[in-house]
Amino acid sequence: PSPVLEVDGLTRHFPAARGTVRAVDGVTLTIGRGEVVGLVGESGSGKSTVGRCVVRLDEPTEGSVRINGTDVTRMSRRALRPLRKDFHLVFQDPSSSLDPRMTVGKIIAEPLKLHGIAKGDAARARVAQLLAQVGLRPEHADRHPHELSGGQRQRISIARALSVDPDLLVADEPTSALDVSVQASVLNLLADLQRDRGFGCLFITHDLAAVEFLADRIAVMYLGQIVEQAPTAELFADPKHPYTQALLSAAPVPDPGSQRSRERVVLSGDLPSPLAPPSGCRFHTRCPLAVDRCRTEIPALRTLPGGAGRREVSCHLVGEDGTAPDVTAPDVS
Ligand code: SF4
Ligand code: MG
Repeated sequence: PSPVLEVDGLTRHFPAARGTVRAVDGVTLTIGRGEVVGLVGESGSGKSTVGRCVVRLDEPTEGSVRINGTDVTRMSRRALRPLRKDFHLVFQDPSSSLDPRMTVGKIIAEPLKLHGIAKGDAARARVAQLLAQVGLRPEHADRHPHELSGGQRQRISIARALSVDPDLLVADEPTSALDVSVQASVLNLLADLQRDRGFGCLFITHDLAAVEFLADRIAVMYLGQIVEQAPTAELFADPKHPYTQALLSAAPVPDPGSQRSRERVVLSGDLPSPLAPPSGCRFHTRCPLAVDRCRTEIPALRTLPGGAGRREVSCHLVGEDGTAPDVTAPDVS
């Protein structure tokens, strides 16, 4: 069977007064059936734009998006409609995606009606079932979004997204607008539902603990490009790209005595503007290891040998055999 998602050479440029914003520049990414892929990076790295292009809230400038093997990149809204049930987006802030005038029951039932899956009593029964699955009570069906807490609203947007049994869920920072105290329960809910139903998931986040918990594989973005991609355990155990190493060095380590403890690397400077990305390696202005070549030569995203899954990295200093420099080694900075 074809992968649920194939993104190929995705590019999204926006015209702006002072030039072109190169939000996404050539992102290639695949999600297999039932696979969770985490897309991580600082805010402004372009990860949300990738998600919006995947669910067709935005249109790529170049490149393609295939869902279940079908190219949806430039499909008309009308042609897209029957496919809409295959992929859904859960936003960071559920308040913006839940119609305040509708009851929770109507909000969850809407996709069922739209796709002709269920109506009337059947739809009501399905809503009750979905509410139970996301840990809410049947009475919640009669409430309006503003009567509920942020965590409950996010549970409702998850119930709505899953009502039509999509093959792909795009979750863009689904917990970052929530109180820290409820973030874990919403993440646990997503993990449980994913395990039970086996949908593929593009999980967009800057929360490294969340992505380690949920994702099978991780792609790291910097300034509109993927700089490293690896199975989750391998990425955390042995990050190859200096940017990934710096990112992970700032993450809390569950067991400080473990092999994973590293010197914390604080990157100098801000994320450069996507209006004028640096020449050569886009990370060179902040990379503690940059050499002359990094300023002029663009490092290709190369596949590394070995390992349990495919690893890719774009850095001149990573050897053919995968040996990588370590910016977190105490003697580097
Ligand atoms: Fe750093 Fe150069 Fe590697 Fe880019 S290519 S990450 S600047 S060492
Ligand atoms: Mg974002």
